[in-house]
Amino acid sequence: MNSFSPTEDTIAAIATAVAPGQGSIAVIRISGSSAIEISKNIVHTPGMHHWDTHKILYGHVTEANQKKYIDEVLILIMKGPRSFTGEDVVEIHCHGGMISVQKILERILDSPNVRRAEPGEFSQRAVLNGRLSLTQAESISELISARSRKAAELAMNGIEGNIQTTIQSIRQRLLDQLTEIEARIDFEEDLPNLEEDNVKNQIIAVVNDIKELIENAKRLSWVRSGLKVALIGKPNVGKSSLMNRLSKKEKAIVTDLPGTTRDILESEIVLEGIPVTFFDTAGIRETENIIEQIGISRTQETLNQTDLIILIFDYSSGWAEEDNAILKQMPTSIPRLIVGNKSDLKDNYSLENETKDILEAENLVIISAKTGQGETELINHLLKLCGSSQIHGLDVALNERQLDLAKSAMESLKNIDRIYDEKLPWDFWTIDLREAINSLGELTGDDITESLLDNIFSKFCIGK
Ligand code: GDP
Repeated sequence: MNSFSPTEDTIAAIATAVAPGQGSIAVIRISGSSAIEISKNIVHTPGMHHWDTHKILYGHVTEANQKKYIDEVLILIMKGPRSFTGEDVVEIHCHGGMISVQKILERILDSPNVRRAEPGEFSQRAVLNGRLSLTQAESISELISARSRKAAELAMNGIEGNIQTTIQSIRQRLLDQLTEIEARIDFEEDLPNLEEDNVKNQIIAVVNDIKELIENAKRLSWVRSGLKVALIGKPNVGKSSLMNRLSKKEKAIVTDLPGTTRDILESEIVLEGIPVTFFDTAGIRETENIIEQIGISRTQETLNQTDLIILIFDYSSGWAEEDNAILKQMPTSIPRLIVGNKSDLKDNYSLENETKDILEAENLVIISAKTGQGETELINHLLKLCGSSQIHGLDVALNERQLDLAKSAMESLKNIDRIYDEKLPWDFWTIDLREAINSLGELTGDDITESLLDNIFSKFCIGK
C-alpha cells in the first residue's frame, strides 16, 4: 500500500446532496496542489490576504467577469497532509439548493489544472496517501448509506479501525507460520525441527477465527440490507392493517373490499435497529383467488426471496380450509410465522381443537391489528425467527467484498488438512498459506493492485 504515485490532478465535486429547496448549506470539495490557487481566483475575500491552513475565511464567489457575485460563502482551508485526502483541500460552504452550487462548481472546473472528481476519488486519495485504511474508507461509505442505528454503529466501528486490526492480526499469524516454514525450507539443518502438528493447529485456530467472522457477517448482513418479510393470507384478514400498524404510517389503503390493496407493495420500518421491508402480497394480486395467486410465479418469486413469511388468518372466524391450502403452498425452506388476527372480535381466546392440531408445529401469535394487542410479541417472534437476536455483541461486520475475500482465505487454508494428512513437504504448505495471506491483504488493502482499488472506489458516490 501507499506505493502508488500520488496523482497530480486537482479534483473537485459537490460533497453534499443536491436537490432544489433542500439543505440550507452545500459543500464543494477541492483537493490537490492547485486547490488553494483555484479558490483564491474565484472567491473574493476582501482584507484577508493570508490563506492560513485550518482557518475559515468569509467571502463571495464571483462570476467569471468578476462583476457579479454567485453566492456568499465560507472557505475552509486544509493544507496537506493534515486533510482528508492528505493533499491541499479547500471546502467551499455555500448556500444549498441546486443552481448556485452548480455554478460555483462550474467556475472551479473552468480553472486550469482541475477536473471533476470520479466517484469515490477523494476517499481513494485518502487511502493512497495513507490517511485512511481501505476498510475505514469503505466504512465511511457504509455510514453514509446506513438505514438503521445498528448499521451506523457497525460502520462507526469500522471507521475506528476494528476490521483493519482484526484482519491484520489474523494475517500476521499466518505470516508468522509462513516465515517459520520458509526458514525450514531454506536452512533446514541450522534450525530446530518444526512440528507439523503445531503448525496445523495454529492454522486451524486461524480458520476458526475467520469462520466466526464469516458467520457474524452473514448475521449482520440483515442490519445493512434489512429483512424482507412477506405478508400473505386470504383477502380481508388484515394484512394491510397489520402493515399499517407496524409502519405506523397510513401508507397502505385499508378497506373492507377484498382485493383492493393494489398500489402499495412494500413498507419499510426499523425494528430493534434492523430495517424490515414488508411485502403485502395483496398488492400483486391478479386473481381474486388467493390460492391460485400463490401459484402465480410472481408471487412465488416474492415468497422465495423473503427472509420470513407471515401467514395471517382471521382468528375471530377461525382457521379455515383456505388458510390450510395457503399454508400447504408455502415454500418449506423459508421460516414462517402464523398470525391469528382480529383477536378483539373474539371473547374466548382458545383455538378450536382442529386448528390446534394443524398449528401445533407452527409458530403462532394471536394479535389484533386494530387494538395493537400482541404486537410486541409478534415483533419479538419475527426477530427471533430471522436470527437477529444473535446479533447483539457482534461488532466486526465485513461487507460483501470483504466477506468474499475472507471466504477465499478460508478455502485456501482448508487445503492444509489434506497436505497434512498426505504428509506433503513444506513447499506445499506455503502455496496455500500465501494464497490466504494474499486474500486477507486484498481485504485490508495491504496487498492490492491499483485497478482493484479503482474498482472498489468506483462504487462510491460522487464527492466522497
Ligand atoms: P387485507 O385484505 O388482508 O389487507 O385486510 P385489511 O387490512 O384491508 O382489513 C380488512 C378489514 O378488516 C378492514 O375493515 C379492517 O378494518 C378490518 N380489520 C383488520 N384487522 C382487524 C382487527 O384486528 N380487528 C378488527 N376488528 N378488524 C380488523
